[in-house]
Amino acid sequence: MSTSITIRNLTKRFGGVVAVNHVTLTVEPGSFLTLLGPSGCGKTTLLRCLAGLEDPDGGEIFIGDKLVFSHERGISLPPGKRDLGLVFQNYALWPHMTVRQNMTFALEIQKQTRAEIEVRAKEALAEVQMTGYEDRYPREMSGGQQQRIALARMLAYRPKVFLMDEPLSNLDARLRMDMRAEIKHLHHVSGATTVYVTHDQVEALTMSSQIAVMREGVLQQLDTPERVYHYPANLFVADFIGNPKVNLLEGVIDGEHRVDLGSFKISMDTRNSTGNVIVAVRPEDVMISTMPVPGAVDFTAYSVLPAGADSTIIAQRQETEITARVMGISTINLDDKIWLSFDPKTLNLYDKESGNLIVSGDGANTVMAG
Ligand code: ATP
Repeated sequence: MSTSITIRNLTKRFGGVVAVNHVTLTVEPGSFLTLLGPSGCGKTTLLRCLAGLEDPDGGEIFIGDKLVFSHERGISLPPGKRDLGLVFQNYALWPHMTVRQNMTFALEIQKQTRAEIEVRAKEALAEVQMTGYEDRYPREMSGGQQQRIALARMLAYRPKVFLMDEPLSNLDARLRMDMRAEIKHLHHVSGATTVYVTHDQVEALTMSSQIAVMREGVLQQLDTPERVYHYPANLFVADFIGNPKVNLLEGVIDGEHRVDLGSFKISMDTRNSTGNVIVAVRPEDVMISTMPVPGAVDFTAYSVLPAGADSTIIAQRQETEITARVMGISTINLDDKIWLSFDPKTLNLYDKESGNLIVSGDGANTVMAG
């Protein structure tokens, strides 16, 4: 049975720094929630508060229906009483213990029977495809293998909740890809509610069922990867997620269905707004033609960057620069005349001053977290 996690109004300060600022969120049973944001935004601190490794200055944490922390009621259960499994960046395997000993240590403390311990260790090693490594010491394995053992140890422990802090950041790019698939599969098999910390947007987008984007301790958006990517709640989220970066085009509302971007005007739902706005469009949503098309705007190809599977094209028109992305190797040459068009369904409109979403491409405002 999976467990939910409920965080209410959680705050953690370090001197003058508010590392976690009144965060409220719910992690649904069995879901994979990623805390995502730039360095110093408070992801690790929030995870450590969940684990019981930090004492918050305010708020409440429930794991299932168990109140594990309440500032008001003076409750703070130690990590061992929260039924959690932790995997951190440095694998934290005991160097003087073999794989088998590393895996069984916590289960012995839990006073599981010898037969049960054997079964769990065997199953977990098979899960991470490390059967046969029982007698090795950590120093006799690669970084990736050590990380698999750390995951197997967590699986064997069978906690209700998995907490992982950048578990892949020490691995090389190829192995990181493999381990993403591995962790996603393990989550699928175990069904355990998981909270995962990363500053890597690709990791967050590929593995999560929900993403919580944080900035300076404040939750910016809590949503599915699909919605965080396509309908960011504010300019910070829009700019943080996506590679190449989203195009953010400054403009002024010009009537009910038009934004004046200076060098051209773009048609979209403006929801009766007025004043200065930013239009956001993802590079892959910009449509390019090498011939004039009705409604398209002529640009010049300033740069073309083919990268095998796709090509990035930097298009210029007066002071406006737009990045577009097309599948495969592009036949466009530098300085070619090209025509760009935009599907209103792919455009999001933001208020320039507050940075908040006014209208999303699907016609709805994104739900703000908190
Ligand atoms: P990173 O990705 O770099 O690990 P993060 O998003 O996990 O960053 P935290 O480590 O949670 O961020 O830190 C949030 C803020 O709290 C930062 O400003 C950090 O300097 C501060 N901080 C974290 N731990 C402590 C501590 N023990 N003492 C003082 N300040 C701390």
